Amino acid sequence: MKKMIITCAVSGAETTRAQQPALPITPEEIAWDIVECAKAGASIAHIHVRNDDGTPTSDLKVFKRTMDLVRAKSDIVIELTTGGAVGMSPEERILPVTLRPDMASLDCGTVNFGDEYIVNTVPMLKMFASEMQKYKVHPTLECFDVSNIQTSKRLIKEGFLKPPFYYGLGFGIPGALNCSLKTISAMVDELPPESYFTLVGIGGRGHIAASYAAIAAGGFIRAGFEDNIYYQKGVLAKSNAELVSRAVRISKEAGLEIAAPPSL
Ligand code: ZN
Repeated sequence: MKKMIITCAVSGAETTRAQQPALPITPEEIAWDIVECAKAGASIAHIHVRNDDGTPTSDLKVFKRTMDLVRAKSDIVIELTTGGAVGMSPEERILPVTLRPDMASLDCGTVNFGDEYIVNTVPMLKMFASEMQKYKVHPTLECFDVSNIQTSKRLIKEGFLKPPFYYGLGFGIPGALNCSLKTISAMVDELPPESYFTLVGIGGRGHIAASYAAIAAGGFIRAGFEDNIYYQKGVLAKSNAELVSRAVRISKEAGLEIAAPPSL
């Protein structure tokens, strides 16, 4: 039976506690939420970390403490972000891979993000991919446009990426692609052979549309407050695990088995 892989993205860099009171901020809170998501059925944790005041950080001590707390309680696959937050330097953003997580995100192109933008030039991508090879970290190729997928193919051709290729396709970021069947199929159609993909939908409607589209298209689901803070229109989700539980339920209803980390 085909398995559904669910990634939890419990905090991100931009969501605030004013928007979602259950947002985890400290390493303890983030790790607790991830363990609850793993119990609910998530097999990958996509992790950003924060300072105690809620602002995003790439401080290695904070990443390490969060990873250690998660690994003490769960075998969930750990994916650290290298997306950082708006304004961070490439050298700051790549630091988390030195902690040797299982996976790390690798953004495949510069993207508008509201009134800001996140820079990902080709030389930066090559530097990030080389560091990931050096530390044996498997990249999640985050793409926000078809052109990002073309860039990833260039990196594959030049030997910076090795199969299997694991993509995170993002929809609904303000300033990038909207979330629709047309945009999703345009992206999925461009993926190279030996690819797996998770559909990341931003916002309440984008999240639920991307979740069902992932089931229909043979992809995987990402759930959590990084992408979406609502359970349904106007109703905040009670927890990250509540969103993961729904992803599990709709996947099972579609006849999919839920992939679990080895010891769960
Ligand atoms: Zn992220």
